[in-house]
Amino acid sequence: MTVNGSSWPPPPGAQGADRLDIRRHNLSVVLRLLAAGGPRSRAGLATSTGLTKATVSSLVGELMSRRLVRERGPEGGQRLGRPATLVELDGSHVVTLGVELNVGHVRVLGADLRGRSVYEHRQDLHGDTRRVDEVVDQLVVQVNQAVDDLVARQCIVAGASVAIPGIVDGERGVVTFAPNLAWRGVPLRQLLAGRLRLPVELALFNEANLGAVAEHRAGGHGAADDLVYILAADGVGAGVIVGGALVLGVGGAAGELGHTTVQARGRRCTCGSRGCWETLIAARGLLHETMPDRADGLLSGGRLSADDVVAAVTAAAHAKDGAVLEGLRSYGRWLGIGLANVIDTFNPGVVVLGGFLPDIAPWVLPAAQEAVIRHSLADSARACRIELTRLGFSPSAKGGAIVAAERIFADPTVVAAAGGRVPVDTPS
Ligand SMILES: [Zn+2]
Repeated sequence: MTVNGSSWPPPPGAQGADRLDIRRHNLSVVLRLLAAGGPRSRAGLATSTGLTKATVSSLVGELMSRRLVRERGPEGGQRLGRPATLVELDGSHVVTLGVELNVGHVRVLGADLRGRSVYEHRQDLHGDTRRVDEVVDQLVVQVNQAVDDLVARQCIVAGASVAIPGIVDGERGVVTFAPNLAWRGVPLRQLLAGRLRLPVELALFNEANLGAVAEHRAGGHGAADDLVYILAADGVGAGVIVGGALVLGVGGAAGELGHTTVQARGRRCTCGSRGCWETLIAARGLLHETMPDRADGLLSGGRLSADDVVAAVTAAAHAKDGAVLEGLRSYGRWLGIGLANVIDTFNPGVVVLGGFLPDIAPWVLPAAQEAVIRHSLADSARACRIELTRLGFSPSAKGGAIVAAERIFADPTVVAAAGGRVPVDTPS
């Protein structure tokens, strides 16, 4: 029979499983409380959570054994009785990794549980990025190098995410379509299985979605729960946060704003269509707008990276090359036209620009802002701040570390207790 949708009597072992779930939930509640509210006594935690002092003491003991919290000296100023020992978030030895796999390079960032960056490394990729096996080999080396470095510093690497410049099926661990890598249907998680010195599987995400998460949680944009993050590099990615939640869509392809059409008869895009916003504002578009006579020649070899393009364009702009400066204004207009579409679609409080956009912002933003005002609804434009990312090294990698850390906050038992064995490459 069923009672309220559950089978009754409960199957053998179910009560044990329930108790474990409740325990995990309570560990999570205490850990989040300490992260958000700062140090507290055990008695204070009991009051805030409604749990008994004995339960709180047991939970704190377990979190301490996992090195997620620690005791610190009693708070000063207590005049009567024995001052209570406070408990605070530790996590300085618990690190999560965010890995950005991109055209021509891999970036790995490690952050402790307080979000402080403790490892950053960028490595150029050798060979052809279309050769999946070669790229995967290099990715494995970079991730394991980060793990070895952190373990040598007595850290536990307790989670990791990888940012992909394309559409991913996170559940199956498959890169569905990454046009700039020329990857389609790549079973990345399967290819990495057993090769990474990680206690958990590497979770796959779209790079701009992770960038959006990083900007939302740690970007310094205030309490902006409606935020769009746009990055321009070899391609254009976008991550959309609505009401504080990331918008993914049915197939994880929501926010592919780079492939919205802004020119019916425009240049051919890597996705197969024509006139996508990406053809105008990604690195190739920047080169076509600023150096139209040389663009095709420079691009024909296929070895020109987005970094090379931006370096050449900004050097010419600094040298006050009139044609390049006019090209940058034209680029700014296309940027603004796309931003107007974004603003009218999502009515965001802030749009954050990343990738190489901060590098060219002084020359393109005035024209972009003018185009936003001309092409979007006046009230929506007024309500939206256009800001540059301040996250530096890699917002996508930062977002990857944040998402992996959020998994620990949801289930602190993924971090092995001191002296406990850490399972290698198996989901816990
Ligand atoms: Zn396209």
